[in-house]
Amino acid sequence: MAKDPGRILIFDTTLRDGEQSPGASLNLEEKLAIANQLARLGVDVIEAGFPFASPGDFKAVNKIAEVVSAENGPIICGLARASESDIKTCFEALSPAPKKRIHTFIATSDIHLKHKLKKSRKDVLSIVPQMVNYAKSFLEDVEFSCEDASRSDPEFLYEVIELAISAGATTINIPDTVGFTTPTEFGKLISDINKYVPNIEEAVLSVHGHNDLGLAVANFLEAVKNGARQLECTINGIGERAGNASLEELVMALHVRKSFYNQFFNKKEDSPTPLTAIRTEEITKTSRLVANLTGMNVQPNKAIVGANAFAHESGIHQDGVLKNRLTYEIIDAKTVGLSDNKISLGKLSGRSAVRARLEEMGYDLSREDLNDAFARFKELADRKREITDRDLEAIVSEQVQLPECKFQLKLVQVSCGNSSKPTATITLIDTEELIENTVVALGTGPVDAVCKALNKLTNVPNELIEFSVNSVTEGIDALGEVTIRIRNNGRIYSGHSADTDVVVASANAYVNALNRLVFSEKRNSLHPQFDLLDKLDKKTFSNSEE
Ligand SMILES: [Zn+2]
Repeated sequence: MAKDPGRILIFDTTLRDGEQSPGASLNLEEKLAIANQLARLGVDVIEAGFPFASPGDFKAVNKIAEVVSAENGPIICGLARASESDIKTCFEALSPAPKKRIHTFIATSDIHLKHKLKKSRKDVLSIVPQMVNYAKSFLEDVEFSCEDASRSDPEFLYEVIELAISAGATTINIPDTVGFTTPTEFGKLISDINKYVPNIEEAVLSVHGHNDLGLAVANFLEAVKNGARQLECTINGIGERAGNASLEELVMALHVRKSFYNQFFNKKEDSPTPLTAIRTEEITKTSRLVANLTGMNVQPNKAIVGANAFAHESGIHQDGVLKNRLTYEIIDAKTVGLSDNKISLGKLSGRSAVRARLEEMGYDLSREDLNDAFARFKELADRKREITDRDLEAIVSEQVQLPECKFQLKLVQVSCGNSSKPTATITLIDTEELIENTVVALGTGPVDAVCKALNKLTNVPNELIEFSVNSVTEGIDALGEVTIRIRNNGRIYSGHSADTDVVVASANAYVNALNRLVFSEKRNSLHPQFDLLDKLDKKTFSNSEE
């Protein structure tokens, strides 16, 4: 049997696999904000990125390793293909972290070997021990993955795993790369690995999987029953194609059904020790942060974190819940940090009150960031009587999107109504050219007029592919959150903003998306090789990434 740490280790890959979702690319500040929140959530390992993929990825992993990692905090991990240059670069990026891990991988299925790697099984058997050994020469904590394991010949898989463990791998990860397996099948694979790999007790068994058939979480839970003790997952289940197994669903399944799962940990049914180290009250906040920064909204009926997950609509259900919550509720919303939307502050609240509340909520802002947040708070408090925690979250999450901005919105004015043609007047500052321009544009509606005006002003070719509005809190004076996704040259960029005026929020969200587009284009033209690498990696790894 593989090593049993006595509980499930949560390996979060939101910043690596999750960031590979189309349009979800994050800047450095945003990655740091998410990594800090993951540490508060209590994940065991943060897979911070793929350092060899681009200098941007390297920098992000390096910064997270420096800032987020602490002796009692999560292990910071980087991904590396089974090659010396990948592994060395990965180690360099991770070097500031007190607790670090190299995660190296190679495909083991014949279909990947033949068509992608053009290597034989024999090649793999010689590369694996060499590269695990090489990683081991830098640090103790080495994870090895057999990409496309669920479609590999099991006999060959056992052989590769045995070699990787002999070379020093301390975690062995079994990915269902293409989301193809079923719970029974995957459970059996994990059980067979435990049975047939002779040195398996020297490593922790981990699983990674995609949701192409909607089975990722079910597959993982079956793996847990058969001895898997590390789960690789993402917040909101984001990731390649249909996404990864969702962290919040796995954690809450193990939490709510602990008395069922305890038996697989040789614990008594009523043992009170939790099965993961996750602070579940941080789940909702983490989910919202990731949704806001990636621009990947959560569907309302999503388990655990969807807007309707705790809403009861039918009269019979409402009546039951009022008499006793247990009639229709298996989770108390407070367990996942969904508070009764506490009104925390108002117009008269001072700087220190705002800072204290933000600190209680887990935001540790620099002096400058706090000044900006306070200015935005005052602005909002002038228009909205009661400021809730949710409003504060919206303010702070918007702030981390601000760096790297070429365009700054100075004025938005719109006139519309049922008898006039919607007209938008916009003044935009170009912070690089240090000029300010104003244009007027007509549109089919106020938001359309705003977008047309911004396109005239920025002259950046793009195609609007998604526009969505959500309200942050209830009530007529609520903040409206706008998420916009635009496409240029086959890449997707998202922008996000919140304001009591949805037209203003739309303008800001559009400007945010345009700033990202311009920044990314500029980076690629300065360093064309990065673009090539990016594209190469996005391409080769999009199908291949475990
Ligand atoms: Zn993956």
